Amino acid sequence: MSRIAYVNGQFMSHDFAAIHIEDRATQFGDGVYEVFAAVKGKLIDSELHFDRLDRSLRALEMEMSLSRATLKLILREVVRLNRVTEGLCYLQVSRGAAPRNHTFPNKPSYSLIVTARRSQPATGKIGIEGVHVITTADQRWQRRDIKSVSLLPNVLAKQKAAVAGAFEAWLIHNNGIITEGSHSNAWIVGDSGTVITHHESIDILSGVTRNRVLQVARSDGVKVIERAFTVAEAKQAHEAFLTSTSSFVVPVTHIDDTVIGDGRPGPVTKRLRGLYLRTIS
Ligand code: PMP
Repeated sequence: MSRIAYVNGQFMSHDFAAIHIEDRATQFGDGVYEVFAAVKGKLIDSELHFDRLDRSLRALEMEMSLSRATLKLILREVVRLNRVTEGLCYLQVSRGAAPRNHTFPNKPSYSLIVTARRSQPATGKIGIEGVHVITTADQRWQRRDIKSVSLLPNVLAKQKAAVAGAFEAWLIHNNGIITEGSHSNAWIVGDSGTVITHHESIDILSGVTRNRVLQVARSDGVKVIERAFTVAEAKQAHEAFLTSTSSFVVPVTHIDDTVIGDGRPGPVTKRLRGLYLRTIS
């Protein structure tokens, strides 16, 4: 089956879908994006993703001429055309094509692209068996709360993880604090089953999955603290895990060369993963 993408008002073959060579996303990383999960053909938590998209657009003084309802129709159609029942839907808005010039164009012709592909994080091996992560310096800019397509430091960190045979790189601020992963939020489980994840700030992306897991944890009576934690604390934690739209809740069994707990997914992580999967199924 050939894939279909949406580009600026048109559904077209994925193979030929393209934006202009002077699109500001390609020349300046001047754009924002969202990744939505589809489960049983339906988009999960789309309102939360659209809320974050609005925040990212506003932070970069970009405007979206299409309404949320229209965007939803486009996303659903791309998911349907690609027959994605379990998978991911990607949306990108950039400040569009314009002669290369750092300043914003006077009348930007924003470009919108949407793609979808299959993937199965709910039943995948990593969610059940857990993964290794490495730690590396957080080299990103200071507005990590904006979901910008300028992802070079994230790409370099993830590549470093891949070369080391790890699934993710946890990013360390110069003060030893783990902010988050290159494409996921970072969590640890401390004494008495207390779940800890970095508080919301400009230092991290406010993950939609993170916020859902916080909700399910709290309503399950789990003690949750939103605060920064260091690499040293993470390596001594009873459990660790990561969350993202593309992989849901994934146990972390090793951080660098340190085994976390007994090296297997821990009970709190397994419980939260189960509760989270129940909310989206
Ligand atoms: N942090 C970063 C840097 C990310 O790229 C992602 C994935 N978009 C996340 C956290 C997790 O966010 P979400 O749960 O909304 O996918």
